[in-house]
This record gives sequence, C-alpha cells and structure tokens, in this order.
Amino acid sequence: MLDTYEPEPMSGCWLWTGRYITTGYGALKGGVTQLAHRAMWRAHHGEIPRGLFVLHRCDVRCCVNPAHLFLGTAQDNTKDMVRKGRHWAPPKLAACRRGHPYDAGNTRQRPGGRRTCRTCSNEAAKMYQRRKRAKEMANALQLHPRDGDVESFHG
Ligand SMILES: [Zn+2]
Ligand SMILES: [Zn+2]
Repeated sequence: MLDTYEPEPMSGCWLWTGRYITTGYGALKGGVTQLAHRAMWRAHHGEIPRGLFVLHRCDVRCCVNPAHLFLGTAQDNTKDMVRKGRHWAPPKLAACRRGHPYDAGNTRQRPGGRRTCRTCSNEAAKMYQRRKRAKEMANALQLHPRDGDVESFHG
C-alpha cells in the first residue's frame, strides 16, 4: 500500500502516485483518510508522538521519502507553512531591547505585524508627560530646564 510512489531522481523525492486529498497531500486508499507521508513515517520510524506533525524538508507535500520527513510541533508546522507561502514576518524576538518579555500581557500588536513593548511605551508616555510638565513649569517660571533636571528616556 505504501509503494504507490515514483522516485524523482533530481530532488530525491518519492512522489506519491496514489490518491490525493485537496490540500495536495497524498492519501492512502480506505475509509479513514490516512495521509501517505504520515503512514510512511510510521512505517520507517515508528509511531508519531501525540501532538507532533510530520513535516517535509523538501516542501513537496506529496513526497513520501522518509529521509525528507521530520517531526515538528504545530508551531513548526505553521512556521513551515508561512515560510513556504513566502509570507514575510519580522523576526520574533523574545524580549524588547530593554529586556521586557514579549508575552501576551506585554505585547502590543501593531498593523503590519510589528510589536511594541507595552512597558516601554507606557514608560515613554509617562516620561513624555513628565517632560511636558517640567517644561510647562519652567516656562511658567521663565526658566529653562537644564540637562539633568529631566531624566532622558532612551526607548
Ligand atoms: Zn521530498
Ligand atoms: Zn520594553
């Protein structure tokens, strides 16, 4: 059942010649849809641990060459799809440049996929207010703030 493929000499891919499902993956004959590359992985490497996906190194969904397959998480799968879809996303850093973690609570998503650090932007806003007040005060007193009177903010 797993020999329904044709080796592709250029890439080394084993192209599935059996049934296909709409997403472009090869599938085995039978009632329940069994993806060919997953079945091939099992035949060669054993059971697929729960929650893991069988992914393609070669980007060829209908390839069933066990040497082109690797296990990954759902996250890897998404990353893989994004990469293969040639979507571009800015590199994801774990923390802002001042070291605040980009976690669910501290991350502000901006259009275009950019993220800003909530802690930093809050501090920047506070600092801005502080500078503004200091300036207003100085103006009111006909004074000019000297360097050092106002903390500078490098965000
Ligand atoms: Zn392949
Ligand atoms: Zn920050």
